[in-house]
Parts: sequence; structure tokens; C-alpha cells
Amino acid sequence: MWPGQCMSLKCAEEVLNVRTAYQHLTVFRNDGPWGHVMTLDGCIQLTDKDEFVYHEMMAHVPVCAFLSSPFRSSSSPSAAPAAPVVRVLIVGGGDGGVLREVLRHKLVGECVLVDIDGDVIEASKRFFPAVACGFADPRAKVIVGDGAMYVASAAAASFDVVIIDSSDPEGPASVLFGEDFYRHVLRVLKPGGVVCAQGESAWLHMHLIESMMKMLRTLVGTLPTTAGGAAERFSEVKYAMIYIPSYPAGSIGALLAVKASGENTDEGRGAVTSALATVSPLSMSADVAEHLKYYDHDVHKAAFVLPRFAQRLNHSS
Ligand code: SAM
Repeated sequence: MWPGQCMSLKCAEEVLNVRTAYQHLTVFRNDGPWGHVMTLDGCIQLTDKDEFVYHEMMAHVPVCAFLSSPFRSSSSPSAAPAAPVVRVLIVGGGDGGVLREVLRHKLVGECVLVDIDGDVIEASKRFFPAVACGFADPRAKVIVGDGAMYVASAAAASFDVVIIDSSDPEGPASVLFGEDFYRHVLRVLKPGGVVCAQGESAWLHMHLIESMMKMLRTLVGTLPTTAGGAAERFSEVKYAMIYIPSYPAGSIGALLAVKASGENTDEGRGAVTSALATVSPLSMSADVAEHLKYYDHDVHKAAFVLPRFAQRLNHSS
């Protein structure tokens, strides 16, 4: 994944080193600022020091975009409905960091997390309790299994937000980068729903990012969604940049897309598009915001503003 470079942190003490059924999992303690570090197949997944960056962005960008959308305007915290209504799916994410952030939103009624490797979940509970705290929330439904198989059998239009917090496209996660998988993601999203996937680094993986975005932009669902037979599709595909020191090249991205409303009109498309690009102040309550260290609504908007070398990613929708 990273020819000609490696990212390393000093191991002061190794606390876990196991070959699980799917991957090589280690946790070690760094005696510098990074605290505990988890790796999978030798790649850093999270550190105590900067885990909040990726987890906040992967959760709050899609959830706040969804809550800002005209489809969800009645779900704003200022007009909170009697019961929580938003249903979220996390594919991967076994450390629990994205789950913790998603569940900060009181409007989330259920968050299903499907990770293929139960050992990652257990290691996180043991060595990263502050990251894994969301597993104890009654709104969390945790499934140990293949995310691609789960999505293929999930009911159509059953989730408002789907977050794909996967490891890199080698090993068990490779299936989570393919067209078949995304066809099912499109199917299980409700109209107006948002997908957000770990989108690799614009510094290192431009080719992969461009081919993923092209695939999402041209993907057409197999099932008609309306009586008129309008095909399912993503109405907007964007890359959001995240600056995080412990990932290779210091950055990673989130790939976002919105499921078209079903009307399949330019007007409908515009309404959804504005939800990703501009986020409503009402989409995050003060009691959520006060816990965050990276995400706020200015950072949300800025993440879609790319440096010149990467601007072409967001120039077409
Ligand atoms: N933020 C991280 C990164 O990119 O460095 C990803 C963290 S998270 C620990 C990645 C998770 O994806 C792992 O727990 C791994 O077990 C899970 N995973 C990989 N392939 C999967 C699959 N096919 N279905 C579900 N989970 C999968």
C-alpha cells in the first residue's frame, strides 16, 4: 500500500501479539506521546493520542450531513422528535471509536456494527477502554461477521447512514472496496441517506480514490425505487480530507455520497447536494460538541475544500 516508505512508532512494551483468524493483531505501548497503539497486519489502526481525529470525522461528517438534509429537517435537535429515529450501520470499526462518536447523537436510535474480527473488539475493550466505551450503550448492536455478507442480506432502505470503517484494501477488507458491495450499500440506504467510507490518502492513493469515486458516480442500483421505475443511484460523491499524524503521509480521506431522493430530478439532486456541502448548526447539539477535539462545522465544510493537486476529485459530482 505504501511503496518506498514505512510509518513506525517506538514499541516500549508489547501487550498483545496474536494471529487472529483474519489478521495479525498487535497492541503496544509507546513511551512517547502516542500511548497505546493498535496495528493490523503491521499497519497502525489507532493510537491513544490521535484516535479522535479519524473517529470524529468518520462519524460526525456523515451524521451531521444527514441531519442537515432537507429530508431530515424535522430531526434537528431544536425540533427533536419524541423518539430517536436515525439508524446507522458501521461496517468494520471493531475498535469502537466511530461507534462512540455516532452514539453521542441522541437522535441515533440504533447503531449496528459488523466487524469480521471479534478479537479486534475484545482487544479494544481491554486496551482502549475510552475508545470502546460505545459497546456498552444499549443502542449498539454488535455483530461479528463479514460486513459484505451482512449488507447483502440486510433489508432494502433500512439505514439512514452507512459508515465503512475498514482497514486497507488488502486481506479481509478488500471486498469492502468493490462494486458488488456498494450496490448493496446503495440498496440498504434510505433515499437521502449518506454513506461514508475510509477513503485512503490523497498523497498516496490517488488512483484508487479516483477509481472508487468513478465507480460510485456511475453505479446504478438494480432495483427500481419508485412506481415510475427510477433507478437507485448516488447523487453526490465527494472526498473529505482528514489530517492525522499517525497515518502514512499524515492524512486520510473520507469518501462520501448521498443516495438520490428517488425523484431522480435535478431539483431533488440539488437539495441533497447542499446537505453534504453545507452543514446546519442545528445538526449537532452543544452537549455533543463540547466533547469533540477535531470536528466542528467549520472543519466539516473545510474538509471538502481540497488542495490544488487533489481538487479534481470534487470537481464533478
Ligand atoms: N481506521 C482504521 C484504519 O484505516 O487504519 C480502520 C480501523 S478498524 C480497526 C478496521 C476494521 O475493519 C478491523 O477491525 C477489521 O477487522 C475490519 N474488517 C476488515 N475486513 C472486514 C470485513 N470484510 N467485514 C467487516 N469488518 C472488516
